[in-house]
Amino acid sequence: SKPAVTVLGLGDMGSALARALLKAGYPTTVWNRTPEKAKPLVEAGATHAPTVADAVTASRLVIVCLLDYKSVTDVLDTARDALTGKVLVNLTNGTPGQARELATRYDVDYLDGGIMAIPPMIGAPPAFVFYSGSRSAFDTNKQVFEAFGGTNYVSTDAGFAALYDIGLLSGMYGMFVGALHALSLVTSAGVPAQEFAPLLKQYVSAMLGSIDGMAEQIDKQDYAIDVVSNIGMQSEAYVNLTLSAEELGMSPELLAPLGPLMARRVADGHGHEDIAGVVEILKKGKK
Ligand code: NDP
Repeated sequence: SKPAVTVLGLGDMGSALARALLKAGYPTTVWNRTPEKAKPLVEAGATHAPTVADAVTASRLVIVCLLDYKSVTDVLDTARDALTGKVLVNLTNGTPGQARELATRYDVDYLDGGIMAIPPMIGAPPAFVFYSGSRSAFDTNKQVFEAFGGTNYVSTDAGFAALYDIGLLSGMYGMFVGALHALSLVTSAGVPAQEFAPLLKQYVSAMLGSIDGMAEQIDKQDYAIDVVSNIGMQSEAYVNLTLSAEELGMSPELLAPLGPLMARRVADGHGHEDIAGVVEILKKGKK
């Protein structure tokens, strides 16, 4: 028979997780601060626990998915004794440092997770979750986690699921920055966004290939490898991005910050190298 699982937190994501567990046939106990949210899950076969301690006691595997880390510790601190010896899987979004702290706060076998999906995607790939922390907790419960979609265990360091999660989100938001600026630019000139969008998608997709070369340069800290358009040239051309936006009366503030970073790199004598060298400035921190 399938092992029992407890889900703490029945927001949009927690509810989707609990629903996926029920669908996969796991006896599921649920708890939420606002108990009404348990109703549809109970109708789908879940057991509602009146307190956090009751919910934690019901299963060896406890999954928590709340708003933030503050809510996680507020909730779990009320069930410290019940948690002893459990497998705790925290799927709440946070920072690597927050995850590492939580990993040692309770007497549990700890796994942290980063959910790379929105609630309606939960239940099958392409939804997937990064896991980090206890290797044995992951191996023992991998099948349960497959109810949510794909699994990707990244490290025994509990902070790495959050690191990978934030890393992918950073790439996504960077793409959003470019797309929002570009669509603002063309619509400011009267070109419908939907007319420009196919061109934008095609171009951005083609440019994705440059990530591999950047990664090689960054690992080797050698930004002179395979340079096809050096940062000196790009830094000059980048000024035109800001100027074009300003000509149209739009704010360049979303895209502007890269300009001064490139200029600094050029001023530091790296104008003949590739744009990836900007990483060296970023890694030094705020100056
Ligand atoms: P919701 O806002 O839908 O739900 C928040 C949950 O946290 C509710 O169960 C709420 O309880 C609970 N909560 C908030 N504060 C407290 C508190 N102080 N004490 C007890 N419970 C509290 O958020 P989601 O379910 O969408 O998100 C949950 C986590 O999943 C977040 O960390 C989010 O970043 C992450 N995530 C969400 C994604 C999404 O697309 N939704 C995608 C990937 C990750 P109550 O019902 O009583 O208010």
